[in-house]
Amino acid sequence: MGRELVMTREGAQSFFGRLIEEGPVMGPRERISQPGFVMFDWLDSAGQLRLKYTTTTIPPKKAFFPPRQPLFEFESSQPPTITAVQEATAFTLVGVHPCDLAALEMLDDAYAQEPAEACWPAARARARVIGVDCLPDEYCFCFGFGTCYGREGADLFLTPIGRGYLVEVLTEAGGGMLRLSDVEDATDADREQAAAFRRAKSERMTASIDASPAEFADILEEDDFGELWREVASRCYSCGSCNTTCPTCFCFDIKDEFDLGLTGGRRIRSWDSCQLQEFALVAGGHNFRRIRWQRVRHRWHRKFLYLYRDFGRPYCTGCGRCSRACTADINIVDVSNEIIGRARGRA
Ligand code: SF4
Ligand code: SF4
Repeated sequence: MGRELVMTREGAQSFFGRLIEEGPVMGPRERISQPGFVMFDWLDSAGQLRLKYTTTTIPPKKAFFPPRQPLFEFESSQPPTITAVQEATAFTLVGVHPCDLAALEMLDDAYAQEPAEACWPAARARARVIGVDCLPDEYCFCFGFGTCYGREGADLFLTPIGRGYLVEVLTEAGGGMLRLSDVEDATDADREQAAAFRRAKSERMTASIDASPAEFADILEEDDFGELWREVASRCYSCGSCNTTCPTCFCFDIKDEFDLGLTGGRRIRSWDSCQLQEFALVAGGHNFRRIRWQRVRHRWHRKFLYLYRDFGRPYCTGCGRCSRACTADINIVDVSNEIIGRARGRA
């Protein structure tokens, strides 16, 4: 744990105001079209920032990889020309919860796999990150996944306390940001309030997957849950919302878009979803996962088995976004516990 200071509520308001004056800041703010719902977006003023929120629908990975991202523009002249679209502006991402910090680190690892992807680390290098602690709702299950108290990749981390926030200074860049702030040394009482907040967090967590990540991976690897996958698939609409809202999903599609005159255009990459029917369609018309239950099974195998084997941890943070967003009310914890229960019942 880094150096601990205190930022009062008023101090935080003025700190974030100065940060926004200094350069672009993305953070949680209320959706204009849906008051009460919070989304990550660029902030115009500190008054828009909502540091107290349960979760967002779309995760903060969008700051580094927008859902639709131009890679380069081309002209089909002779010779053809290609101009890379390169974003170079430094920015600050504010208000990231511990589970989402863990997700960003997972994507660092995923995109670093050979052949390494270049856009993600370049965007990460442009950003400073400020985390904030949170309290769970009935969908959160991060406690059993070790992502509940993460600080990975944060420069500063804020925990709500009575007079404002306990501020952990985790990097030099974090310390540098505090020149914009009036902070005070933390007292024992401040630290106790932060500890009480963390205790409340774990005490309020009601959902959990009933097996360790290692046991769950073994269960998925050994058993055939064909009947269960078909049951889940009979409810699933293949809408892809579970992937679109997932902070650890990293698949993307690439398409060339031509201008109307067909003289040029741009190459765009956009988030993709393994639950969509055409995801595994290849040249020649073969589809490796044409049937819906195969795609449902793939999602569980991918998150809890394949990537667990590759990276030593499940590619799920327990954020619960996929369950909240599912149009068919398919809950990742309920399905996982059903799998675990059936496997143990057969043992
Ligand atoms: S699989 Fe669901 S619970 Fe897990 S990280 Fe993705 S959205 Fe969150
Ligand atoms: S969000 Fe629900 S209905 Fe849509 S693809 Fe995912 S599991 Fe199926």
